[in-house]
Amino acid sequence: MKEKILVSACLLGEKLRYDGGGYDLPEIQRLKEKYELIPMCPEVLGGLSVPRDPAEIKDGFILTVNGNDVTKNFEDGAQITLKYCLQNGITKAVLKARSPSCGKDIIYDGTHTKKLIEGHGVTCALLLENDIEVYTESEIGGL
Ligand code: SF4
Repeated sequence: MKEKILVSACLLGEKLRYDGGGYDLPEIQRLKEKYELIPMCPEVLGGLSVPRDPAEIKDGFILTVNGNDVTKNFEDGAQITLKYCLQNGITKAVLKARSPSCGKDIIYDGTHTKKLIEGHGVTCALLLENDIEVYTESEIGGL
């Protein structure tokens, strides 16, 4: 039986991004040779729709470009994702870089001006706190 690995659903071509887009990445598809890929989108799991207003993390809150507070949606989605990983023995995740949910190490700065800062997305941070290994789509060479 192949090891299960969590993957941001949009990296597997599911059109769940805030603007209704997704990504078609052959390098992600190649992971199927070794792993059972489990697609998951924390923002949709947290109750947000597609499309939706883009959101960024600012001072511990997640605010859309129009100023709506979607912190609870992001936190709910992160908790659902973590729970699924823990219940299914998933110890690795490949998450979309720079997303306010999925981003690792680098995210947008909360000003909605495309500026990047150090930090994790909400789901990424929760998975890391719970000892789940997180890789972005550009870090999967060793998997
Ligand atoms: S929350 Fe994650 S999986 Fe969902 S669209 Fe954004 S980057 Fe992709």
